[in-house]
Amino acid sequence: MPKRTKRPYITLECNECESKNYYIQKTKGKSVEIDDLKPSKFCKKCKSHTKHKAGLK
Ligand SMILES: [Zn+2]
Repeated sequence: MPKRTKRPYITLECNECESKNYYIQKTKGKSVEIDDLKPSKFCKKCKSHTKHKAGLK
């Protein structure tokens, strides 16, 4: 059985409709720095690629 560990999640939230579309789990030894990238991701609600902002959960 895998141990349940508390790891921070990064959420990517659509700037247009503010729905959280992506949940990225931080993996050990890998630093995720999405904050500066302002990634363009597909949003189901907007049905198009929109800018997403990253937030820690
Ligand atoms: Zn959207």
